[in-house]
Amino acid sequence: MVGGFFPTPYPDECYYSILCRYFVRSGSAGYKPTVKKLFGNMQCLSTAIFFPMRLDCVERWIPKGTAITRKTIAMNHTMYPYLSMICSEKFRKDMAQVLNGRNSQKNFERTGTRRSYRLWPEYLRYCPRCVCEDKNLYGEPYWHRAHQLPGMVYCIKHRVRLMDSDVLARATNMTFYAASDQRLSEHDDNSIRDGYDQYKELFLRIGQESEWLLHHGMDIDWQFNFREKYMRLLREKDAATVQGVPDYDLISYHFNRYWGEEFLEILYTALNEAGDCVQELREARLRTFRPIHHILMMCFLKGSVKEFVECKVSENPFGDGPWPCQNPICMHYGTNTCQNSDLRYVNGVAIGFFHCEQCGMIYKQIRRKGKTGQLLIVEYGHIWKTELLRLLGTEKMTVKEAAKILKCSPSAIRWQKKKIGLTKKRTYVRRPPPYSPDVGPENYYKEQVLKFCKEYGEVMPTVLRRHAPGAYSYLCKHDYVWLREHMVYKKDLAEYRKQDYEILKKVQSAYEQIRKGGDTDKRITRGYIAKIAGLGKNTLVAGALKKPRTKIFIDSVIESKEDWLRRRITMIWEKQNGVPISLADIKREMSLHPNTFVEYKDFLKELMDELNDKTE
Ligand SMILES: [Zn+2]
Ligand SMILES: [Zn+2]
Repeated sequence: MVGGFFPTPYPDECYYSILCRYFVRSGSAGYKPTVKKLFGNMQCLSTAIFFPMRLDCVERWIPKGTAITRKTIAMNHTMYPYLSMICSEKFRKDMAQVLNGRNSQKNFERTGTRRSYRLWPEYLRYCPRCVCEDKNLYGEPYWHRAHQLPGMVYCIKHRVRLMDSDVLARATNMTFYAASDQRLSEHDDNSIRDGYDQYKELFLRIGQESEWLLHHGMDIDWQFNFREKYMRLLREKDAATVQGVPDYDLISYHFNRYWGEEFLEILYTALNEAGDCVQELREARLRTFRPIHHILMMCFLKGSVKEFVECKVSENPFGDGPWPCQNPICMHYGTNTCQNSDLRYVNGVAIGFFHCEQCGMIYKQIRRKGKTGQLLIVEYGHIWKTELLRLLGTEKMTVKEAAKILKCSPSAIRWQKKKIGLTKKRTYVRRPPPYSPDVGPENYYKEQVLKFCKEYGEVMPTVLRRHAPGAYSYLCKHDYVWLREHMVYKKDLAEYRKQDYEILKKVQSAYEQIRKGGDTDKRITRGYIAKIAGLGKNTLVAGALKKPRTKIFIDSVIESKEDWLRRRITMIWEKQNGVPISLADIKREMSLHPNTFVEYKDFLKELMDELNDKTE
């Protein structure tokens, strides 16, 4: 027992803080003698902020039979419950033994210290309101455990900003800095504006989750594969394939959307690290994952650490069986009796087959993007089929009646009938031919065509098809020449012919006009003719196709680019009166696009040679 005045720990008081208060009570004799008195040898004190170091000394400090034990120190005054999730199974076992009275090994202490390194804040933190309350309640302030947690920016109880004290965390190594010896403000400072306040709720949430871990971390069996569980849940979010292969870009996208990229950046800055939680998922054993990364990931996937820990997610994308039987006439209908008989993965989709042993029914379902699709019956099973045969055979029911009893659609029954082989052959009766054998088809159909011609003047295929079925197809095959003579296509109808002639007349006179008084420099095109003839721009382009006579005429008079170039250049050559023509002459006389000279280089050269030959 250490002098009989070892202090009773305050609620959520940090282990280090308890030691500091002992130091003050024992008369502040200095670091070395106090540490020696407490531990029997020299110790680094910073570890006590986070880790239950040297628990073997607890019995020397505190009389047996009090409520304070190794376990209560570790659970209520260190961050071990928060940390235990990232400890190895062996370490957790060792810890359990130490808590139960075994002496701790050097190795164990060293690992624990190392585990806590990465949690260190720069300065010890405190909440001004807590300081005020503690002074009123206990007469002195103390260092709170929760305030030193990574990512803790606000006091969860008072929802105010935590403040940095003057005590550097690394300076606690060899010094007892009791909170009562520090100048700690009792007023929250509202002047701090550093980007945290707009994310206050998110920080509080992280804080609450961290505190939840402090209170429950040691009761949870962390002995499961974190990464595997993450991947299975990511599968539900469609950020990993049904087989659990992650798509890190998608995970990043969803994760950043959940927390907000700016918040994450500020949080990482507050934690003084450059890591990216999602990128660290790549590591198979998540060695670099800290509790805060797990908190971020668990909240993202399940809303909270508690939900995550409690949720069960099976390897099978369809969950843990058995699955319900879907056969309405099976005695197990709706009860979970089906086994997953097969599981296939096709193009990112999981297809599960479920089999009821009682009735033999097999159905399948697909699962993708965390959603299960409609079920499809693959095999109806012996009970259903026997009943079907009885209903249709012995009971002589219709398909509809049987469908009602079997609680399925009539089409399902028809399909099953076919599969079983219960089909009746239907005979198709051909329609008797409309002609008598002694007349024969050819004479009969020709007679009909002639009848229509007489009646309407001319006859089109559509009319024939409607009023003399068979005639068109028969004559097409057997005497097309005759048919063509007696039938007109739509574009040949009298009305269309009239239009064609009218336009042709206009076009011809327009062409004459161009020839006599038009701009001889201009190329004769459909558009040019249409303009002179006073016709719409497209009448002679698309419209001409339906007017065969106009088309023939137009095609014969319009100029191709070569025709036009030849005509124009010949005109220039004639004007020169015997002087050989050159490219410069053409450039001067005609304003051609530069590309034309490139495109028609050979043509122009040949043409000039031809003309110049005539000159000589
Ligand atoms: Zn507080
Ligand atoms: Zn069944």
